[in-house]
Amino acid sequence: MCGKLTMAIVQRVFSGVQPTGNLHLGNYLGAIVNFVKLQETHTCLYCVVDMHALTQPVSVWGGPTELARNTRHIVFNQSQVSSHAELAWIFNCVARVGWLNRMTQFKEKGGKDRESASVGLYDYPVLMAADILLYRATHVPVGEDQKQHLELSRDIAQKFNNDFGDSIRSHGFSDGLFFPQPEPLITGPATRVMSLRDGTKKMSKSDSSDNSRINLTDDADTIAQKIRKAKTDPEPLPSEEKGLEGRPEADNLVGIYAALSGRTKSNVLGEFGGGQFSDFKNGLVELCVAKLSPIASEMKRLVADPGHVDSILIDGADRARAIAAETMKATKDIVGFVRKS
Ligand code: ATP
Ligand code: MG
Repeated sequence: MCGKLTMAIVQRVFSGVQPTGNLHLGNYLGAIVNFVKLQETHTCLYCVVDMHALTQPVSVWGGPTELARNTRHIVFNQSQVSSHAELAWIFNCVARVGWLNRMTQFKEKGGKDRESASVGLYDYPVLMAADILLYRATHVPVGEDQKQHLELSRDIAQKFNNDFGDSIRSHGFSDGLFFPQPEPLITGPATRVMSLRDGTKKMSKSDSSDNSRINLTDDADTIAQKIRKAKTDPEPLPSEEKGLEGRPEADNLVGIYAALSGRTKSNVLGEFGGGQFSDFKNGLVELCVAKLSPIASEMKRLVADPGHVDSILIDGADRARAIAAETMKATKDIVGFVRKS
């Protein structure tokens, strides 16, 4: 039996990033900028979701050696806390097939040959619900693309609370709410950064073209090359934001400029509107290099010291495991699994 006081829902932030390749500008502006900010006000858990990475083809996650190398970035990695998988199984039995069939990420990543996609790719959103709710997290900073998955996490939390309502109450949660409804935090300078090759597709680590994204580790020459090659249209830049409508590539590049400089799009267009893309692109190269090069050097420094990063991951996993254990004990009691106390 779990004491009510120790298990009260507290404000807690959780988010994950897959070790499927290089972190890019979209991850930075859509997620990481917010991760850093939230540390000032909340208890935060940030997870390298290596178990999610396995849902994709091996060409995306790179195989065991590459996976191990790419994991050495952030705070703790998912597979070190086995309760992520354990809770995901329970949630598999709460979530409905109809809910998962609506998930657009599976449709996009599964592509035309869905029959040969992994079961894990289909089940990805259920594992994601387990990631979040294992820590009974209340706030989840993510990019726009994860909004639908967050809604599914909320549905799973609610259905679990309903399905096991009597048991939840009899285990000391008098309001019947064991799992919180995790709230997405989709905020910050750019919540959906698009591919440099196609303004209708989001920038992704798993896009086969490296020219589609700016990696946080790219050097100045590579950044310059990618931006100069970035798809545009033949029109000059508009002077007003309204003129970006129907021009996804222009809109994206102006959006990136605005996000990195802390200005509004219309302010940026005030400076570059009416001019040629080439001038604007030169300005964008300069800005990207100035903003990203300190991040690249810090990443280089950390990657050169895997022992240090691994010790952070081990310490992070120990701390995450302690929180997860509390949730799992109570969850098992609620579901009716007999366990060693
Ligand atoms: P993959 O293609 O392997 O799914 P990804 O680029 O989508 O990789 P994830 O690790 O799945 O990266 O996502 C990490 C975080 O970055 C999530 O919060 C996600 O919403 C956010 N994110 C990913 N791509 C973008 C983007 N283009 N714009 C804004 N946020 C993004
Ligand atoms: Mg993704």
